[in-house]
Amino acid sequence: MIIGKGVSTGIGFGNTVILKSQERKIEKKTVENPENEMKKFKEALGQVTKETETIVESASGTEKEIMSAYLMIMKDETLIQETENAITNLKYNAEYAVEIGFNSVIQIFENMDDEYMAGRARDIADIKNRILAKLFNEQIINISELKPNTIIVATELTTSDTAKLDFKNVSGIITELGGTNSHTSIMARTHAIPAITKVGEATRIFHNGDYVAINGDSGEIYLNPTQKEIEELEKIKKEQEKENEELEKYRDSVTKTADGYVVELVANIGTPADVEIILRNTAEGVGLFRSEFLYMDSENMPTEEQQFLAYKEVAEKMGDRPVIIRTLDVGGDKDLKYLQLPKEDNPFLGYRAIRLCLDNITLFKTQLKAILRASKYGNLSIMFPMISSIEELRNAKNILRECKIELDEQDIPYKKNIKVGIMIEIPSAALIASGLAKECDFFSIGTNDLIQYTVAVERGNEKISNLYTKFHPGVIKLIKQAIDGAHDAGIFCGMCGEAAGDELFIPLLIGLGLDEFSMNSNNILKSRKRISELEKYDCKELAEQVLKLNSAEEVERKLREFSKR
Ligand code: PEP
Ligand code: MG
Repeated sequence: MIIGKGVSTGIGFGNTVILKSQERKIEKKTVENPENEMKKFKEALGQVTKETETIVESASGTEKEIMSAYLMIMKDETLIQETENAITNLKYNAEYAVEIGFNSVIQIFENMDDEYMAGRARDIADIKNRILAKLFNEQIINISELKPNTIIVATELTTSDTAKLDFKNVSGIITELGGTNSHTSIMARTHAIPAITKVGEATRIFHNGDYVAINGDSGEIYLNPTQKEIEELEKIKKEQEKENEELEKYRDSVTKTADGYVVELVANIGTPADVEIILRNTAEGVGLFRSEFLYMDSENMPTEEQQFLAYKEVAEKMGDRPVIIRTLDVGGDKDLKYLQLPKEDNPFLGYRAIRLCLDNITLFKTQLKAILRASKYGNLSIMFPMISSIEELRNAKNILRECKIELDEQDIPYKKNIKVGIMIEIPSAALIASGLAKECDFFSIGTNDLIQYTVAVERGNEKISNLYTKFHPGVIKLIKQAIDGAHDAGIFCGMCGEAAGDELFIPLLIGLGLDEFSMNSNNILKSRKRISELEKYDCKELAEQVLKLNSAEEVERKLREFSKR
């Protein structure tokens, strides 16, 4: 048995697919026989072209458009002239000739003034990569189309890899690196896929096609499990299913405490496809639509129309239920390759989220107009991430105002009084909550970031993860300040960080007066049950006691005692 750290609950069985980051060493050689190298190159190019043709035939929508554009590029003679020249005249080996031949074309595109043409450099680099993969006999795995019951094994899944993953066929994820609150772990939980991280050397221990069983709670992994092990895991799986069945009676009930205090129980989503999952789990709305996943799931910047269609789909599917769309929150651990974000020493403290949007007005306006246009089809609100000051909120609202004027000029309809809120995830924002609350319609506390900025512990850094805790009295005081600031100004305060769905933490949040809990939808029934067992008065008393404590350890102990009552 191999042990890692369980970050997403459940039992999974299946065959492994290993995703290894390929480190190629391209050697420069001069050859006697350039014809052979030319043959190798032409064969590799032919295979890649054929594969692309097959994809174009079966694809639809954006993927079809992108792949058709790739085909056109591949069939352009000028693209391969430099490579052929490097083989025939300079007598270089095929691999090196492809590297330098394609790089010279990539450079020409990169230097073009036209933004669209400059963006094609990335496509050509991708084609080069695929030809080199053929020449090196590497297997490229298409993670958007996997066989049923696949267990993904990877060094680390990037957030954009996860956005493309064919979730319906994944029955488990094993990674060498990554933390509980990394976006990959959050996505695994959304899709109810068992996941285990911190499995050192996983990509060496396992081989493609190995049969494994995993327990996402205990972090246990069984390579070629025995019949007895399979039976034990099946038993745990059945127990988990039974527990879930017992929650069924909370499907149709209102979310309220035993003494009748009603709160909103809503869900976090990453894509329009998640709506079906959260409705199945009886979410009363969407408290956080992480719109950046639309951007990360795409090879190019999504257009206003593409975004409009995605937001409209969510709005329509959710009907009257509230949906909060968060504007683009990239940077930090969420990269957008086509934006070519600068490399930074401290990306979490850097050029990200609202800072990036306020600096790229065209990009920001494209998204805001798409949301405004979609607002007519449902109950949408807009939320700005990473607000640290009142000026940022005002600037963002001014740009939104300009978008409304531009839509008015074109007679394009939208909901005029659409609500505008902000995430409270930076301590400075929590500290000036009462001022911010006077200039917006709602708050949503993002504990995932609020914790990391309050205790100065990067959210994905496993080495210091023991210091990353929502129980820190400093974090709790900031949460209180945000809720009180909102209520004093008469606006509502929600929470969309992972802490909102933690059964141990919920009584404290009820006691502090939180109005809305937005979580991974798998936690919704469990949370509704927990809330129904609580009395608001007891929770208030608990909150008062917790606010007097000075250490995370004491806070956690107090909350555990309360949960055992
Ligand atoms: C948060 O920071 O708590 C949050 C919900 O946003 P994200 O996890 O996407 O950074
Ligand atoms: Mg955040």
